[in-house]
Amino acid sequence: MQTKSKLLLVVALMLLTLTAATIINISLNFRDYSIQGAIDKAHLSANLVRDGLTSHMVNGIMDKREYFLEQISKNNNVKSVWVSRAESVAKQYGDGFPTEAPRDEIDLEVLKTGISVQKIIENTQSSTIRVTIPYTIDPKASNLNCMQCHNAKRGDTLGIISMEFDISDMRNTGLLTILKILAINIIFLLIVLFLINYYATPYMQLFSNLQDGITKASHGDFTHKFSSNVGGDAQNVISQLNTLFSKMQGTFGDIKNTLGNFIPKSLSSNDPLYEAKTIIGELSDIYKFKKTIEHDSSKDMVFQRVTDILKTKYKIENFSFYELNNILHQRTLVYSSSKQSICYDYVDKDAKLCRAHRTNTDVISTEFLNLCQTCDAKNLKYICIPFSINNDSSIIISITTEKEDELNQINSKIASIKNYLEAAKPVIETKILMDKLRDTSLRDAMTGLYNRRFLEEFIDKVMSQAQREKETYSVLMLDVDWFKIVNDTYGHDVGDKVIVEIGKVLKANIRGADLAIRYGGEEFVLMLHNASDEGTLDVAKKIHSAFGNLIFDVGAGATMQKTMSIGVSKFPVDGDTIWKCIKLADTALYSAKTTGRNKIVVYVPELSQREDVR
Ligand code: GH3
Ligand code: MG
Ligand code: MG
Repeated sequence: MQTKSKLLLVVALMLLTLTAATIINISLNFRDYSIQGAIDKAHLSANLVRDGLTSHMVNGIMDKREYFLEQISKNNNVKSVWVSRAESVAKQYGDGFPTEAPRDEIDLEVLKTGISVQKIIENTQSSTIRVTIPYTIDPKASNLNCMQCHNAKRGDTLGIISMEFDISDMRNTGLLTILKILAINIIFLLIVLFLINYYATPYMQLFSNLQDGITKASHGDFTHKFSSNVGGDAQNVISQLNTLFSKMQGTFGDIKNTLGNFIPKSLSSNDPLYEAKTIIGELSDIYKFKKTIEHDSSKDMVFQRVTDILKTKYKIENFSFYELNNILHQRTLVYSSSKQSICYDYVDKDAKLCRAHRTNTDVISTEFLNLCQTCDAKNLKYICIPFSINNDSSIIISITTEKEDELNQINSKIASIKNYLEAAKPVIETKILMDKLRDTSLRDAMTGLYNRRFLEEFIDKVMSQAQREKETYSVLMLDVDWFKIVNDTYGHDVGDKVIVEIGKVLKANIRGADLAIRYGGEEFVLMLHNASDEGTLDVAKKIHSAFGNLIFDVGAGATMQKTMSIGVSKFPVDGDTIWKCIKLADTALYSAKTTGRNKIVVYVPELSQREDVR
């Protein structure tokens, strides 16, 4: 029920109750008062009749009493009047007129007791008061002595006088009064209800409008426009509320959209507040997850964390986690909650047989009968989620369940699971790279530095990651001056020793994030991570002088010192690929060689022009 209707009902009920109470009170009082008045009048009349009869008696005209009574009964309100004599009087003077015999029990009772009786007789048509008073010898009477004529003593009842009065008029007057009061009250009630309705309606409408807006807002919908017919301050409140709501809608919408860019598709709520809260919660979880896995030492550890997330956060009990080599099309089981995965083992050797891997789309068993041909699902439902890490590798999570509704629940979580995988992707990629970098086939045995194969296989990946992360690499190309002579003069062993020492000098002067590569015979490439121009030059100078200061024992007490030339370029400032930058560093190195050797030359575009001329 509306608040306004409730208010009107309560007021109406209160006024009706008040009216009823007033009417009952008035009618009871009115009745008591009227009846008492009527009884008093009846007694007065009866006493007058008695006194009249006494006069008749004293004047000796008792035989005219019938006429007297008849005259009295002609009075409007007097319905009937009669007298009856006591037995003692009847004995002394006879029975009197036939109408004077006691008519009922009341007559007999008053004759016997000498105590007057009054009674109200009511029916639907009329109301009557009946009064019967005794005609008793007054015990104290002195001037008028009844006992002179009657054989009686003081206090004896000689007769009775009964009268009946019609008081229907009085009742009707009472009823009419009550009806008037009722009518006045009803009119008053209607006026009150009308006024309440008239003045309260705009406030009630405002209240209900506020209620609607707040209900929508509690569900995150701030599009409600408040309006009201109540003037004054209410209008200010309304316009302030509208401004506030439109700001809220805009702000929360923006927050939702902005946050949605970070982790799209995982929510379907219309409540921007709820969505923002959920997205922020998820972003925060993902951020923590990413920070944690960044410090994990290997790819396997990251995979372990992904399986933990699936188990603890998403409460997925049965699943298998595969790693796939996209080049060799091989698959490796990383984790399985059950001993036997539903997917056949032979797929391990030919990963292209895996539908999810081949199509790179989620495979959900309920979508089509026997959807995947390479699994032994029996009665199990399954979802296989492929996720690409990079061109070379990807993962597949194969989730199974017995119940279809559980499968649907899992399906609704896939977008959120993918957000985690997306966050883990660059970390996994780096870990894969790191694992590969540890591979000895990528290192030069003589110096322990990376070899040319490393450069050819992985430098593009390292650099594309650097480009994504807006990192720079300073490229240094180093070459020993007149090295050939060393070999020619002191033999290859001495030449090898020089090469080993260069490796040590390089390692001693670079940081963990820098890369040192033996590029060719006595040619080396250094990649200094995020180094400033000054820092780069500093490192180049240090290496240059450290090498120049080395004293080599060439046998027979003789020693030798060598110098080197260094060419420097910067990725991605000078060239947009690392190969271009290596080429430009080589151009700078060439310039060093052709302008006297034993020096450091930083690449400038003019060097390329000179090369063109060459
Ligand atoms: P430049 O100043 O122009 O560089 O003169 P250079 O004599 O150093 O000329 P270059 O760099 O072309 O000489 C490279 C020589 O390095 C050729 C080769 O005999 C020698 N060399 C290459 N690899 C090895 C190696 O592993 N051990 C030894 N001892 N010598 C090597
Ligand atoms: Mg050389
Ligand atoms: Mg050389």
